[in-house]
Amino acid sequence: MATKTHAETAATGFDKTALRRKYAEERAKRIRPDGNDQYRRLEGKFAAYAEDPHMPVKPREPVRDHVTFAFIGGGFAGLVTGARLAERGIDDVRIIEKGGDFGGTWYWNRYPGAQCDTASMIYMPLLEETGHMPSEKYAHGPEILEHCQRIGRQYDLYQKALFQTEVTELKWDEANHRWIIRTNRGDEFTAQFLSMGTGPLHVAKLPGIEGIETFAGKSMHTSRWNYDYTGGDPAGAPMDGLADKRVAIIGTGATAVQCVPHLANAAKELFVFQRTPSSVDRRDNRPIDPEWFNAIATPGWQKRWLENFTANQAAGPGAQEDLVQDGWTDIARRLRARIFALPPEQMNPEGIMAAFEDADFEKMEEIRGRTDELVDDEATAQALKAWYRQLCKRPCFHDAYLAAFNTPGTHLIDTGGQGVERITETGIVVNSQEYPVDCIIYASGFEVGSDYTDRAGYDVTGRDGIKLSKYWAKGMRSKHGIHVHGFPNMFIVQPTQGANLISNIPHNLTESGETIAEVVAHAVEQDISEVEVTKEAEDDWVKLLLSGQGLMIGAQDCTPGYYNNEGQEPGPKAKLAVGHPAGAMAYFKYIQGWRESGAFEGLEFR
Ligand code: NDP
Repeated sequence: MATKTHAETAATGFDKTALRRKYAEERAKRIRPDGNDQYRRLEGKFAAYAEDPHMPVKPREPVRDHVTFAFIGGGFAGLVTGARLAERGIDDVRIIEKGGDFGGTWYWNRYPGAQCDTASMIYMPLLEETGHMPSEKYAHGPEILEHCQRIGRQYDLYQKALFQTEVTELKWDEANHRWIIRTNRGDEFTAQFLSMGTGPLHVAKLPGIEGIETFAGKSMHTSRWNYDYTGGDPAGAPMDGLADKRVAIIGTGATAVQCVPHLANAAKELFVFQRTPSSVDRRDNRPIDPEWFNAIATPGWQKRWLENFTANQAAGPGAQEDLVQDGWTDIARRLRARIFALPPEQMNPEGIMAAFEDADFEKMEEIRGRTDELVDDEATAQALKAWYRQLCKRPCFHDAYLAAFNTPGTHLIDTGGQGVERITETGIVVNSQEYPVDCIIYASGFEVGSDYTDRAGYDVTGRDGIKLSKYWAKGMRSKHGIHVHGFPNMFIVQPTQGANLISNIPHNLTESGETIAEVVAHAVEQDISEVEVTKEAEDDWVKLLLSGQGLMIGAQDCTPGYYNNEGQEPGPKAKLAVGHPAGAMAYFKYIQGWRESGAFEGLEFR
């Protein structure tokens, strides 16, 4: 890092010009013309990789009946919405889920070490309602999956649920004011109200590496972990099936960061193929002390914690005592400290952006410093350093990942930003060198950036035959990210066009579930057959969204990844993938007032 100018280093102690140049160079190595097209789905010859390793498909008769409320997706979104409906006395609810049980992402992702990256106290929904005390600050996958089942049981959501079932068609029946739902199991039933919460990251993808189909050993995607092959279990039993195996893992994102330490312990040899290093900050997980929990778990505690975490994400004033205190709140805390230290003449957008950059450089220098501290081999430590701003990619937190590279037999194969060159019948080729392996694990992530209906696997036909894919052809349009004009009695549960809070997705889902339950309860009480957002209200909401600054993550000058459409111009649709211009906390306050007023302004009840 040469060419430090005095002015650039004096204030912060690091060479900003050199860092900016290094970031740009590393980004340039990774930009590729095929963008999202470099990936492929688990289809065709890869269909076997997509099969459910957790439960064989159970035969059943097709369903032909009517329910008050149908929800597509049995993850957190469906569970919290179902729970809020049940609390309001609407129990004729059917959840349709492609997995064999509730859990969504936690049903599928049972790779070793799977763990929530956001504190359990705010990540796990309905803790107060179920009385469950999380066992750790960051709970592991099996506990979260069990919690999903607990919610399902407590709110009687199993009774009508259809598992191992995928929706194939949703059609509004104008004459009867209801939705017709068809599935891949031959079901054809109707629902007065319909809701969708299919999750943002549910379509697994593979890298389109030359020769990928020729590999003769075992292959699996992390979201379809095969314990029959590896031995062990999601609770952490040793994977003794790997003791005599040479194992490769492709990808070093949030998933790989969690499972690499387990693979390093279990495999005879582990080869970690890296294209871009993750930023891996400290995790500092610890058990939750029941005495402490009982003291804080007074009525309304979880809402207080949720709001506290969200408020502490804001850059401006209004932050309170930080209850969660972790890497997420640290990002905003540092930024606030720098902004408030600005002299009055620099308290302007440029000054604030510069403070943001300084806070980021400081944080990333610390994170890069961890690799020197924790990784014995100097070249490996160097290769594990992330050269981009922290929110360019999903920030990771782990206490064992970096040190795992000190395990004998664990090798980092850095591809210099180019990715794996080729896969052969017997192994993986990088820089013309073949690494023979018995098993390839794809930690290659999930499809992002494709159209909602493409990922969902079905289209929705609304009033007058309008298709949701067509209505959203130029980008999402909604009010609150929930209601869509032309699609009566339909609700969507996801973060975009609402709070868009990425550090704790369940907060978005809980608020949407609450809002939908309030609207539906009102409609049922008043014996109303149709609820629909007016065109005007939807347009006004979209206008409000577009008045904001846009996304704070995924800038085009970031290293490529799913946060920024693989570094390619995302087009006009991305402008609509935003949240409330005043921030997440403002949205949550607004939506609570909106639903509690009982006026449901912008909706038409017929
Ligand atoms: P990601 O998309 O984050 O990572 C995919 C990895 O595969 C990247 O490291 C990518 O490199 C690499 N890759 C892709 N193509 C190639 C190639 N040709 N050669 C070599 N490497 C390649 O997927 P994850 O499953 O890790 O994470 C997805 C998301 O799931 C996370 O961002 C997070 O939101 C969520 N998650 C949440 C957790 C939680 O606790 N709540 C835990 C785990 C995941 P490159 O970076 O260069 O593209």
